[in-house]
Amino acid sequence: MNDVRVAVIGGGIIGLSTALELLRLGVGDVTVLEAKHPGEGSSGRSVGMVETQYLDTADIEVRAFGHARFTALERDHGLGFVHGGYLRLTHDEADLERFAASVAIQAEFGVHDAVVLTPGEIASRWPQLVLDDRAGALFGPSDGHVDGYECCVLLARLVQQAGGRVLTNSAVRAADVGPQGERVLTTDSGAVHADIVVNAAGGWAGVVGELLGAPVPLRPQLHGAVTIELERPMSPLLPFVMDYVPGSGTDGVYFRSERADQMIAGLHTDEVIHGSVSPDVPLGQVSQDFVERVSTLMAVRMADCDGLAVGRSWNGIYPMSPDHRPIVGPHPDAPEVVCALGAGGSGIQLSPAIARMAAETVVDGRSTTFSTDPGWSAARINDLSH
Ligand SMILES: Cc1cc2nc3c(=O)[nH]c(=O)nc-3n(C[C@H](O)[C@H](O)[C@H](O)COP(=O)(O)OP(=O)(O)OC[C@H]3O[C@@H](n4cnc5c(N)ncnc54)[C@H](O)[C@@H]3O)c2cc1C
Repeated sequence: MNDVRVAVIGGGIIGLSTALELLRLGVGDVTVLEAKHPGEGSSGRSVGMVETQYLDTADIEVRAFGHARFTALERDHGLGFVHGGYLRLTHDEADLERFAASVAIQAEFGVHDAVVLTPGEIASRWPQLVLDDRAGALFGPSDGHVDGYECCVLLARLVQQAGGRVLTNSAVRAADVGPQGERVLTTDSGAVHADIVVNAAGGWAGVVGELLGAPVPLRPQLHGAVTIELERPMSPLLPFVMDYVPGSGTDGVYFRSERADQMIAGLHTDEVIHGSVSPDVPLGQVSQDFVERVSTLMAVRMADCDGLAVGRSWNGIYPMSPDHRPIVGPHPDAPEVVCALGAGGSGIQLSPAIARMAAETVVDGRSTTFSTDPGWSAARINDLSH
């Protein structure tokens, strides 16, 4: 693969991880084209949770892979990975059996510390939580959060150290076909020739797909987060509390301690439940409705809400596909365009798996790392588009 030229469009966590994975697999000529700077998109606006508390085997396998990769970045390169734990609550007794099954599946993929907790066990660890209407939780003690921006800066450095190029302020504006059938990308910093182009443009993947003649169904969704400033320092610190179960058809509140006198909170869903926005929508602060919904849901879940005040807030984009799963691999109508996109609200934790799968399809034509198919194939693009 030494003479294959690969251009990766997008210097977010997925584009940079894909570039690094390509270099690891022996591709010699890898260029990341980033419109602004690494981490400028959704990756720098996330709350950075990396966890494995999912229910289906495929969802767990790809996240366990991601957890191991972030742990390696922490160990080998000093990435900040705060292992504060992840607590997925449920109100439904039936979920507890699925949670117990998840613990067993996680162990198969090398995550040995997940447990199911009863409301009593949760209350004895974190007396701040109100659990009257909750049946229990799935808890991952070694889960935690990274800083998406820091990840991107580190990955950009690792890509360069491995011999790749990261071109900043290099938005791709047009794509043509060159004399040898290669793609010629017109960028803000000149023309780039590539045999294979990876579309890792996050919320802009739809725009970039059109430009490449390889359209993708992308539904950018606006999601925000807020800081909660505490009058009195909190003890014990709270893990990431997720009051949402995947597939429930709605969203739920999440919150975690950032430090003793500050929390971070937001609303999460793995599903498309909002209208789409333009990826260029102005990203200011969250709306008053959002603040009220987060505050109301937190007031139900926290014993003492008197000393909580919403501080600063920010918005970003979940780059969602119509069926809520990433789209990875060669485009059905233009196989020289490889998709690595549509990661929604899980793009930080899924970035290692998406990158691995995308890079393997470039090098070997197919991906073999994962034993259970997560259903991410780009072959479904035309079905999703109708
Ligand atoms: C509030 C919030 C909280 C979140 N929390 C979590 C979380 O806890 N855990 C989790 O796993 N995920 C979380 N996410 C989701 C996660 O941030 C995204 O899924 C992930 O960052 C997507 O990464 P990406 O590389 O695909 O996109 P991006 O990071 O957006 O990168 C795409 C890049 O492409 C560049 N680009 C666009 N067009 C062009 C062009 N024409 N030419 C060149 N470059 C271009 C952009 O400048 C951008 O840097 C959260 C998201 C938000 C908004």
